[in-house]
Amino acid sequence: MDPFNWKCPYCGHAQTVVEERYYRADFQIFNDKSAFGPVAGYAETIVCANDSCKKMTLEIVLCRRHDYPGGRWSVGHTLFTWPLLPESTAKPQPDYIPKPIVENYKQACRIRDLSPNASATMARRCLQGMIRDFCGITKATLAQEIDALDEMVQQGHAPAGVAPDTIDAIDHVRSIGNIGAHMEKDINLILDVEPDEAQALIDLIELLFEEWYVARKVREQRLERLGVVIENKKAKKAQAALPAPPEKLPAPASSAAKKAPEN
Ligand SMILES: [Zn+2]
Repeated sequence: MDPFNWKCPYCGHAQTVVEERYYRADFQIFNDKSAFGPVAGYAETIVCANDSCKKMTLEIVLCRRHDYPGGRWSVGHTLFTWPLLPESTAKPQPDYIPKPIVENYKQACRIRDLSPNASATMARRCLQGMIRDFCGITKATLAQEIDALDEMVQQGHAPAGVAPDTIDAIDHVRSIGNIGAHMEKDINLILDVEPDEAQALIDLIELLFEEWYVARKVREQRLERLGVVIENKKAKKAQAALPAPPEKLPAPASSAAKKAPEN
């Protein structure tokens, strides 16, 4: 195989996949009477090169099969693909985002295709969790919470990172079919939505993870570093301002000069 670029779905680490971390097993399926005709399959696995991850992805693929004289065969075009590991398309999230919120997000991703309705319910719960945790707003319904957040932004006292276009993004999702129509209902109510509507909610949550939690963390880290730089500068200035060493001063003044820089 030729090495190829790949991003680990577990840890997000970008890397080049080489032969020792890749394995594909092709197999024939001797059950040729189906409407598919002759089929074969393969299992494909990749192991992440990141030492702190080392997780494996696994995909099973069903393909058409080309037969040749002498019992030889090859894999034809793909009919179905089942990504088995990781279990869902959920992107890895940092551990400073509250666990219940990330859990709701992961569940929403995991069941998106199987049950968009349940996925949208988990995603709405996740959105509500974020508005409560990050913005400190708790109301009876998610719709009221979004309205309160909108008001906060307009009045200019929303938490840093909650920009007007964040509200636009939330409003956009609110405008989608049943999600919007039932925002004011209990978040536990199961809505009837399509997979792409459920995905729009998931996209919104990923955007808010980035813009709220990740951006806040980056800002905090920068300020912390800046704080260290300022402290270092202060310390250097203080040192430069120190009076001459006491031993050069006459005896009576020396004790006073010694005290001054210490306090
Ligand atoms: Zn990884």
